[in-house]
Amino acid sequence: MLVAIPRETHPGENRASVTPETIKKLTRLGAEMVVEAGTGAGSGFSDEEFAEAGATIETDRDAMLGKADMVLRLRKPDIEEVAKLKRGCIHVSYLDPFNEHDLIRAFTEQGVTAISMEMIPRSTRSQKMDALSSQANLAGYIAVMLAAAQLPRILPMMMTPAGTLKPAKVFIIGAGVAGLQAIATAKRLGARVTAFDTRPVVAEQVESLGAKFLEIDLGEMGQTADGYAKELTPEQVEIQRQAQKEIIADSDVVITTAQVFGRKPPVLVTRDMVEGMTPGSVIVDMAAETGGNVEGSQPNETVEVNGVTIVGTGNLSNLVARDATQMYASNMFNLVDDTWDEESKQFVLNLENDILPGCVITHDGAVIHPTIKDIID
Ligand code: NAD
Repeated sequence: MLVAIPRETHPGENRASVTPETIKKLTRLGAEMVVEAGTGAGSGFSDEEFAEAGATIETDRDAMLGKADMVLRLRKPDIEEVAKLKRGCIHVSYLDPFNEHDLIRAFTEQGVTAISMEMIPRSTRSQKMDALSSQANLAGYIAVMLAAAQLPRILPMMMTPAGTLKPAKVFIIGAGVAGLQAIATAKRLGARVTAFDTRPVVAEQVESLGAKFLEIDLGEMGQTADGYAKELTPEQVEIQRQAQKEIIADSDVVITTAQVFGRKPPVLVTRDMVEGMTPGSVIVDMAAETGGNVEGSQPNETVEVNGVTIVGTGNLSNLVARDATQMYASNMFNLVDDTWDEESKQFVLNLENDILPGCVITHDGAVIHPTIKDIID
């Protein structure tokens, strides 16, 4: 089975979908690996390292795509590139399938099986393949680093002959994978951390990290069968905003990570709340790229409102591309390895197991994922 790795071409993208280590493991399974020249440039892996690990280095991208039985990449492909894949090819990457309808149609027209890394089920067994989690974990860590770099004070308490500095107060909204890592990182740096999430089950996890959980009575709450937050009604959002107002005004750092799967994130920090913070305070909006939890935040930009710095984040794990690549590559390997048939040395598209039906979007010329099928006309 010929498995191709195209270089990531999105501007500024430093991550890759493989490391020499995963090339070695895939080769050991019996896959014939072809890696486009320059694939590891942004994450610190050379073509020579990939070649030593067992891959052929290819400079003709189109030729490589045209003969691949399987393509492993990070970013979604351009639509024009889908037309270069051969019928029956299995393509694995992020796809943004809720929004990229034309891309999904292109996969069906080309007869390519498209697997979406965003749609890997959030189950215990699939954790090792879960790229949303692996990248969100790193992003949560970096969000705290960015806040600390902007804040005109330190995070820990410091007792010195020159006086005592109080610990900084950090408030984290949303305690999923990124939020929990942000809590853990801020705690490690000595901050006083409070957090809130609409899923009550999270309170215990927040407290086990040594942070305080802010109690807000939003009435009927809970989570979906997949463990995601349910969307709040406009009335519940308003209750949440009012209940957070005081703690936001009193915080040195606010980090927002609130997302509702497949929906626009809620605006939870309004302009007047930003204006209520002390000048010099910092907000990091980790939802900025998908619409923002903070009024006035801009993706990939840092803006100032009344002396308060608002960092709108984009692709945060890209800032630690080496580790992010290592984790993403490992997610990819585990996905391939899970249904690999040792005898025929093929990836088996088992559409009856507990993982693939959740993340295979197109197959055999049709959209087969039930949710995506419903939204694509
Ligand atoms: P996410 O990125 O979809 O959302 C981030 C957080 O925002 C979530 O915790 C969500 O509850 C919260 N949120 C939404 N609206 C909010 C609001 N108005 N105010 C405050 N917080 C709000 O979440 P995620 O990090 O991808 O995790 C989603 C779920 O999947 C979690 O339950 C997580 O524990 C679970 N998960 C399970 C596994 C596994 O079992 N393998 C792996 C990863 C994640």
